[in-house]
Amino acid sequence: TVRRRGTPIWVRLVKGAYWDYENALADQMNWPVPVFTRKWESDAQFERLTRFLMQNYRDLRPAFGSHNIRSLAHALACADYYDLPPGAYEFQMLYGMADPMKKVIVEMGHRLRVYTPYGQLLPGMAYLVRRLLENTSNDSFLRASFTELRPEEELLMNPTLAAQWSPRGGTTFSRRTIAPDDFRNEPHTDFSREDARSEMASALRAVAGQFDRSYPLVIDGQTVETGQWLSSHDPSQHQRVVGRFALARPSDAEAAVAAAHGAFPAWRDTPAGDRAKLLFRAAQIMRRRRFELTAWEVYECGKPWRESDADVAEAIDFCEFYAREMLRLDNPRRRDVLGEENEYFYEARGVAVVIAPWNFPLAILCGMTSAALVCGNPVIMKPAEQSSVVAAKLMEVFQEAGVPPGVLHYLPGRGEEIGPILVNHRDVAVIAFTGSRGVGLSIHRQAAETPPGQDHVKRVIAEMGGKNAIIVDADADLDEAVKGVVDSAFGYAGQKCSACSRVIVLEPIYDTFLPRLIEATRSLRIAPAEDPACFVSPVIDGEARDRILRMIEQGKTEAKLAYSADLGALAHEGFFVPPTIFVDVPQSAVIAQEEIFGPVLAVMKVQTLDEAIDLANGTAYALTGGLFSRSPANIAEVRGRFRVGNLYINRKITGALVDRQPFGGFKLSGIGSKAGGPDYLQQFLLPRAICENTMRHGFVPTPPSTH
Ligand code: NAD
Repeated sequence: TVRRRGTPIWVRLVKGAYWDYENALADQMNWPVPVFTRKWESDAQFERLTRFLMQNYRDLRPAFGSHNIRSLAHALACADYYDLPPGAYEFQMLYGMADPMKKVIVEMGHRLRVYTPYGQLLPGMAYLVRRLLENTSNDSFLRASFTELRPEEELLMNPTLAAQWSPRGGTTFSRRTIAPDDFRNEPHTDFSREDARSEMASALRAVAGQFDRSYPLVIDGQTVETGQWLSSHDPSQHQRVVGRFALARPSDAEAAVAAAHGAFPAWRDTPAGDRAKLLFRAAQIMRRRRFELTAWEVYECGKPWRESDADVAEAIDFCEFYAREMLRLDNPRRRDVLGEENEYFYEARGVAVVIAPWNFPLAILCGMTSAALVCGNPVIMKPAEQSSVVAAKLMEVFQEAGVPPGVLHYLPGRGEEIGPILVNHRDVAVIAFTGSRGVGLSIHRQAAETPPGQDHVKRVIAEMGGKNAIIVDADADLDEAVKGVVDSAFGYAGQKCSACSRVIVLEPIYDTFLPRLIEATRSLRIAPAEDPACFVSPVIDGEARDRILRMIEQGKTEAKLAYSADLGALAHEGFFVPPTIFVDVPQSAVIAQEEIFGPVLAVMKVQTLDEAIDLANGTAYALTGGLFSRSPANIAEVRGRFRVGNLYINRKITGALVDRQPFGGFKLSGIGSKAGGPDYLQQFLLPRAICENTMRHGFVPTPPSTH
């Protein structure tokens, strides 16, 4: 391209920049580290690239940004060797750093560019400090030469030789151990890689060829057609029917509960290790079908590529994590004394009904289902109407994994019709629900009844909505804060229980923050979910769109509209809602109190951190929350007083990972322990204690442990 252009371009060669960031990101994402992990490797690569640039000096103008004498000397020697004219290359150094080197380079008649931040004081100072720190890191040349006074032969050695010679062997990056066992979060797909993008594109094509199929119920291992079908539409293009699923009738619910009830004793008594293996196999099948399952989510739920991919990864995580958790819990606790044996252990509760939402179509359904199953409870899956095709795929996964017929049932249907029948059934022992507050509370109420013939009190686990806030402190790093708020508020069009719907900004930074927030929101790509560039997708269905649009109208009467995106032609294609920002939102406003579950953000200005915390806590929910601040004192204050299930500091508030950030709220956000956390499985289990007196007429047998 440069040759065709006919004019050389400058290429600045640097090493080590963002090295820490690349390592940390790879560690967080469980990706391979994309940078050299030993210093000498970077140095050797720098020299290789120096030679490449100089060999091509007619097209490329190398600029060497380094303070390493060996690297610079090598560049000078190459310039001689390849006979480069003066002015065909240059050196670049940071203002205030390594001045003696600068002097020598200038005295030798070479071109040197000194650079320094320019413009605003604070960002400029921050840049300078970061660069100074980088240049004096443990491995840097400057530190080794000026501070550690290492011998010249070592400092100037060819880096490939240094590899063998150096007694320190160079830095290798070592991962911190995050989990005590061998659980590892499933890596998200890195769509910056061409192979991942093309695999996803072909999965989308393959899945599009399977639209409009029918998915009957699965009860006791048999498919059941009920004569009533409901179509599932693509929210990005609502004429498109992704699939049709059977609607369960009351008699189907009865049949499923009866089969599950019959299968209970055998499944309860199946060794925990075998039940765990079922989950490991399911995880493996989902890995194999990773892109295909992702594609189904993209189409059925209008969920963008990355979000759908993360959802499938989370489903795999739930299986891997809960299987290990069950193995951990399967060790009875013993407290034996002479003549008395005491055992404390867990046992399955009974038939579990799992009622799931559509917004994490695979992960949440799979999480609740796998938890119940691995504990020994047969499960009836009642997926959301909007994601019943993805749920049918999960059923396929568990069937292939070898779940016994009576142990898992696929029972899609209308929530209001089939839900109460399942919830009220006398043979149901556990109800695991995730969804809206209204439905969750009504399930809780109904399940408290003990109709005649029911010999137990039902256990309800209900994860419900949120009205999540992020506080932006006066000294927040706005680059991070704006991005964090925008990602949290508008990712998947705000349809996450963890989404940010209120941002509370300290007055000194408010006027700088707001225009940047609006511009960042304006830059978001609104598109159909199958478009890889989509950031703001459509909302799930027409009902949701109309409800959110009504909320926006409500907002206009309560607050000031600061921004609302123009949807253009998209308005007629799918269920799109414009990303919308309101300012001057009073605490009592409906849009400041009620969950909207769409791309609508309320901005509130406060004078003090105290006021911010009070506002943040001032709703009936307590699910997620966030803070952007650089003040350790303020961070400590908010940690202690901002009471939510999941608090995130200096990052987005969505995207919790199994085990690393166990997820769930309290107040009216939930009555369960956190999904993906160490207390989750106990909810599906009954603890039992058995005490045996082993003394016989004064004779104490030797306790088993001392045999
Ligand atoms: P929803 O409450 O409308 O539906 C959830 C499920 O309940 C669906 O399967 C539905 O068919 C079923 N249902 C509906 N009426 C029922 C009834 N009367 N009896 C029994 N079941 C019934 O919620 P949704 O729109 O699918 O999901 C969005 C909501 O879920 C939001 O409020 C969101 O905050 C919440 N959510 C919470 C979490 C969390 O972990 N706290 C996670 C995801 C979603």
